[in-house]
Amino acid sequence: MKPIKTLPLYINGEFLTNERQFDNISPVNGHLVNQVSYADKHHVEIAVNAAREALSGEWGEMSPQQRAKLIHKLADAIERRFEDFVQAEVADTGRTFETARTLDVPRAIANFRTFADLVATNSSTSCVTYRDDGTKLLNYTVHKPLGVIAVISPWNLPLLLMTWKLGPALAMGNTIVCKPSEETPTTAYLLAEVVHEVGMPKGVFNVIQGFGRGCAGEFLTQNSDIDAVSFTGESRTGASIMKTVADGVKEVSFELGGKNAAVVFADADFDKAVKGVARSSFYNSGQICMCTERVYVHRSIFDKFVSALKAEAEAIQVGSPYDKGVSFGPVISLKHRDKIKSYFELAVQEGATVVTGNDVPKFGDEKDQGAFVLPTIWTGLSNDARCIQEEIFGPVCHVMPFDTDEEALTLVNDSNYGLVCSLWTTDVTRSLRMSEKIHTGVVWVNTWFNRDLRTPFGGVKASGIGREGGQFSLDFFSEITNVSIHY
Ligand code: NAD
Repeated sequence: MKPIKTLPLYINGEFLTNERQFDNISPVNGHLVNQVSYADKHHVEIAVNAAREALSGEWGEMSPQQRAKLIHKLADAIERRFEDFVQAEVADTGRTFETARTLDVPRAIANFRTFADLVATNSSTSCVTYRDDGTKLLNYTVHKPLGVIAVISPWNLPLLLMTWKLGPALAMGNTIVCKPSEETPTTAYLLAEVVHEVGMPKGVFNVIQGFGRGCAGEFLTQNSDIDAVSFTGESRTGASIMKTVADGVKEVSFELGGKNAAVVFADADFDKAVKGVARSSFYNSGQICMCTERVYVHRSIFDKFVSALKAEAEAIQVGSPYDKGVSFGPVISLKHRDKIKSYFELAVQEGATVVTGNDVPKFGDEKDQGAFVLPTIWTGLSNDARCIQEEIFGPVCHVMPFDTDEEALTLVNDSNYGLVCSLWTTDVTRSLRMSEKIHTGVVWVNTWFNRDLRTPFGGVKASGIGREGGQFSLDFFSEITNVSIHY
């Protein structure tokens, strides 16, 4: 077994260990992964002060091109330690090595490189105003850093989602106090090591560790010296953060929960749709904010589709990422497993037919202390059932038949959430018509979870506020000033 390490905080260019620590537990078998220093209120204060100070130091004097160069160095350093990041992400989350190697770590590197390139080549807008008296105004926009950014991230894609904010925030010249999820602290620590190694000026990037409410997360959002909060997590946490920062009128960017739908039309490429929906429902044990939990299938292919999806779900190899051939690991924690189990019970109470799963697997070894659930499919619920309306955030989907496009549209939009939707159809006109009327931030057609980092990402309704990606991120992380020169 690997030696257990105590993860320090990273504040103002220094690694600090606190005697007050919490355990980071493996969801695979309940073993201790490492211990983590708590950030107390005074740690958060010194981190925010250091970040404020750094805004006007060496970092503040750098041109966008100089910042881009340093951010590229950071991406290169992550690439050199690729396998360390992979091991840490797998240890904290229990996800497969393949997922960490093909998604988490490459995307983290791309998050830095993409925004470094964008900022280095960015241009601003200008226009001339012609006044009645013959004089003119030359207007041009300046993108200044927004300031000290509180970055608060969840456990489901720890490194990927944190760097999705850090890349553009650093590219725009901001400084950061970052709080990773208490469930997944390790890659944020590794990132601090890499930031340290490449010589980023002290105070530009700080990591505080700890829990949310009444702890490090809330200490950070309550600090009046932050300028903005970029948060990804549950909708109700977003609402609570919004209340906390309301008095200070801080800017917020929120990527929140989802209850995403997939719609399979009769004209879909059947096999592609089955594989696509299986992936969107069960990938990463259903713990991606974009995962499908509601599937609507045209009645003419409903029975065939449910049988094929059941076969896909039952072919999934559930187990430890450290075992060969496993394609599906545990969920993040016993607490989260118990939440999913409570929906297994609720589904039955609400009258669902269990097509497959709805249980925890038995292994007869130490994995029985882990946080496993089986890929689960239900049918037979009505659209207002709690299991169809509430985000479960596990490998669970409900499949329901529909008869007309209008009915499918009504069912999809009948949700408090609006993050993403996938349509499976070979009729281009139908996909265009539906996409215009679906209330989500992203609509995928014949695909799922394909992201070009220049495109906007975000949710409507309870799924978020604002858009991240490409110029949208650069704009959020900027104070945009119009300069108007009279001549
Ligand atoms: P969470 O809201 O419980 O926690 C997210 C982060 O917020 C953690 O770091 C936590 O410590 C912190 N936090 C909790 N309460 C806080 C408070 N009162 N003040 C300040 N910080 C606080 O979410 P989670 O369980 O870690 O993540 C799962 C959720 O994230 C799901 O709802 C999922 O849909 C959502 N998510 C959304 C997106 C998206 O892009 N829209 C992406 C990934 C995950």
